Amino acid sequence: MRQIFLAVALLVTNFLFAQKTIIYCGKLIDVKNLQVLTEMSIIVEGNKIVDVQKGYIQAGASDKTIDLKNKTVMPGLIDCHVHLENETSPDDFAKQFTENPADIAFESTVFAKTTLMAGFTTVRDVGGSGVNISLRNAINKGEVVGPGIYTAGKIIGSTGGHADPTTGLREDLMGNPGPGDGVADGVEECIKAVRKRYKEGSDLIKITASGGVLSLEKDGTGAQFSEEEIKAIVQTAKDYGMKVAAHAHGAEAIKRAVRAGVASIEHGTYMDDEGMQLMKQYGTYYVPTIIAGKSVADSAKKPGYYPAVIAGKAIVIGAQIQSTFGKAYKAGVKIAFGTDAGVYAHGKNWKEFIYMTEAGMPILEAIKAATVNASDLIGVNNIGSIEKDKLADIIAVDGDPTKDVNAMGNVKFVMKAGVVYKSE
Ligand SMILES: [Zn+2]
Repeated sequence: MRQIFLAVALLVTNFLFAQKTIIYCGKLIDVKNLQVLTEMSIIVEGNKIVDVQKGYIQAGASDKTIDLKNKTVMPGLIDCHVHLENETSPDDFAKQFTENPADIAFESTVFAKTTLMAGFTTVRDVGGSGVNISLRNAINKGEVVGPGIYTAGKIIGSTGGHADPTTGLREDLMGNPGPGDGVADGVEECIKAVRKRYKEGSDLIKITASGGVLSLEKDGTGAQFSEEEIKAIVQTAKDYGMKVAAHAHGAEAIKRAVRAGVASIEHGTYMDDEGMQLMKQYGTYYVPTIIAGKSVADSAKKPGYYPAVIAGKAIVIGAQIQSTFGKAYKAGVKIAFGTDAGVYAHGKNWKEFIYMTEAGMPILEAIKAATVNASDLIGVNNIGSIEKDKLADIIAVDGDPTKDVNAMGNVKFVMKAGVVYKSE
């Protein structure tokens, strides 16, 4: 008797899990065809979208319905350039000497949640201490609330470069970091560093092909890897099923990285005409991070926010990105949305849409860059659009972003893999 009861209970449970959720969308952004559809129904079952239909379809007795008739619905947004382990503050520099990995981990859970609530259901974390790998795993297990994460783990750079964690420190603190720490010189060490990242559980490889702004080095733009080294990194990463994202500000570093076969150029501040042509020829994505440039340039004006060497670079380099983005977009370079969240406050990622549209990209194309293009860059095909068989990553905003871009900051509904995390 007891067994029969259990069997029936199991059947009922299965039935409940097979329950459909119908989402009524007043406006639905069709990101692939750059159009806004009206009065649509999305049917979700489990973690997937099973159908999208015109009109508000009749719900069955056991179906759940979600009313977004006065909202604009779109796929969950994807930010291809975030750092979920930290967030900018004047004591950023000192924190490396005071925080333990557990402190970083607790903080990162807050940033992850903030990011998801802002409508970003997937991110590419392009560099941290390695806690970002554990964060990804905890989110995937459902222990922590946050976006789906594809992470680079630790960044790989060259000795004394942007990603050398000991650059600018007192001599006795410099030590001699190697591939394990993300510092590699020469082909052999570059290969080792990539394999080490694979072993640690990285999904992709992030390199610093040029100098950068927020490190204690004097040159923020010069090339920091030879083309031979980057080729070794790209080839090795390919063997392990990983793509390579290259941080690069200077024109020469950008060209070397593109010719060596990286999947994306991050920031790309001084990309020249030749660089743009190469990007098109190789099909390389540009991840602009305009908001980061503007944000560091602003922070640099506050006395004492950054050490002097950083402030000087931030003002010059940061201000340049938006106009480079405008030129690259007009030249036909492929764009994937990315913001460098962490360099500015997490959750404000949407402001990048303002800066992209200011520079001449129509909002629907910018949303496509944050969905279709971003999933293409990351290399996952079950996210990035609202279609049958895709993961049910669905968000909704108040207002209509095609009329006012600020609507992107009014995220009222967030569903990730069929689970509702926000509904206002
Ligand atoms: Zn970054």
